[in-house]
Amino acid sequence: MKLANYLSASWQTGAGEGQTLFDPVTGEALVSVSADGLDLGAALDFARQTGGPALRALSYAERGALLGKIAELLQSKRADYLDISLRNLGASESDASADVDGAIFTLKSYARAARALGDARHLKDGAPVPLAKTDIFQGQHFLLPQTGVAIFINAFNFPAWGLWEKAAPAFLSGMPVLVKPATPTAWLTQRMVEDVVNAGLLPDGALSIVCGGARDLLDHVAETDVLSFTGSADTARRMRTHPSVVAASIRVNIEADSVNSAILGPDAAPGSAEFDLMVKEVVREMTVKAGQKCTAIRRILAPAATVRALGDAIAAKLSKISVGNPRSEGVRMGPLVSKAQQAAAFAGIAALKEECDVIFGGDPAAFTPVDADPAVAAFVPPTLLYCAAGLAAKKVHDTEVFGPVATLIPYTDTMDAIAIARRGKGSLVASVYSADSAFLGELVPAIGDLHGRILVVNGSIGNQHTGHGNVMPTCLHGGPGRAGGGEELGGLRALLMYHRRFVVQGDPALLAQLSVNAADAALLTA
Ligand code: NAP
Repeated sequence: MKLANYLSASWQTGAGEGQTLFDPVTGEALVSVSADGLDLGAALDFARQTGGPALRALSYAERGALLGKIAELLQSKRADYLDISLRNLGASESDASADVDGAIFTLKSYARAARALGDARHLKDGAPVPLAKTDIFQGQHFLLPQTGVAIFINAFNFPAWGLWEKAAPAFLSGMPVLVKPATPTAWLTQRMVEDVVNAGLLPDGALSIVCGGARDLLDHVAETDVLSFTGSADTARRMRTHPSVVAASIRVNIEADSVNSAILGPDAAPGSAEFDLMVKEVVREMTVKAGQKCTAIRRILAPAATVRALGDAIAAKLSKISVGNPRSEGVRMGPLVSKAQQAAAFAGIAALKEECDVIFGGDPAAFTPVDADPAVAAFVPPTLLYCAAGLAAKKVHDTEVFGPVATLIPYTDTMDAIAIARRGKGSLVASVYSADSAFLGELVPAIGDLHGRILVVNGSIGNQHTGHGNVMPTCLHGGPGRAGGGEELGGLRALLMYHRRFVVQGDPALLAQLSVNAADAALLTA
């Protein structure tokens, strides 16, 4: 079966044989996708001219209600999505839940938040600015929804959440969406779009999807569009420098790869609550979705005196994780999504081994997955490495192995821990396990500018924290530098990407007239 694309409010099948999507456990061919021969320029025009105006005829609250209906619909079809996740991503129920339930949770969060903006259709930003000696001439800033298309080019690891975490704030802002999911796992995104379209929840042109290569998509961007990309740093560079993107100066948001760290405080001796919480979190991050999360822990920093004990504790827990076919009883970790990803992970492990000792796993030949044929399946054994070189190492800080792989690194003192965390050159997240306020007071501000999020866990928080890798819709997601420099989510802050700020200079009566039915932009950060 070839999946249809939905463009210009019609289902369209790409030409040719297309690319095949596979089951990464059995190697079975599932469906195919093709974008060949499709008129993507016309699809973007249709979305700009039809979908956008229809969405912007609604208030923020009305658009929020639409998000609530989409969430309800997706909830009602959850079983179908878990089945596609199992077949196309080799995802266990809990791995698929991170993606599917994460998407529904995020939509609901924005549906709720939209109520604060009420019947408004644009935003007033700050108080009037005096511009003359009397009040007769003033300036007023406003935020208007952009009138183009929100174009999403997404990564393979979150086909559900990756669409809806972006679409929720875009729709709420009044922008139509065109999504291009990553080819290997496009099926789930396509099915969700098909369900929403068939339910008639959105106006024509509000939601479009193109599956497959779609390499000329960016040739057709216009100055009012927004491009939001999630994927590797190499592809991000190509997006940012695409001639049409540069010529139109469109707003570009990049969520790229990241060599995130988890840091054990000097106070967290073996047996302390903080030590145990870190062991649990590292094991979870390495094994959930087989480590295929942009936020996963890649570098584990610990005081030189504690690092070996930490490694032993993590390895002991990893040894109890059963890896194999998620359809089998007792299996805790599934495969990577494709043989290509498996090959990339093996190459990454080999590169890291040039600088590291192996503490656990690390040898594909010595590993047999449960209930799967290694010749066709895409499994990678959980692998814990140790790098004695610390800050002087190179590959450990530069290589993101997108799988169940992490490296222990000893640090000598707080300054060394700070330097190693910063050596990631910009990360999505760092987590710190410590109750030492002097250490935290020095470390957190010293790494904040190079991290989008810092999770600090101590014994009193215990298991109530939301997790190193979990992205909460109410908190910022994105990171500087290597992580792409993007910002997503953060509650209503996310709407800023889909609005443009402008200032009107004129007489106070006009400014007051334009301010009628405008919500206060301060609500976005309230
Ligand atoms: P990728 O190879 O860079 O691909 C990402 C997307 O770009 C795919 O949809 C791909 O389509 C598309 N693409 C590639 N070249 C293109 C071009 N010339 N024109 C238009 N589209 C193009 O990344 P990936 O392998 O899917 O994802 C893994 C990476 O994503 C990891 O490095 C991970 O860290 C990162 N990631 C980051 C975040 C975050 O939030 N920061 C989240 C998830 C993943 P095709 O599939 O059709 O090639």
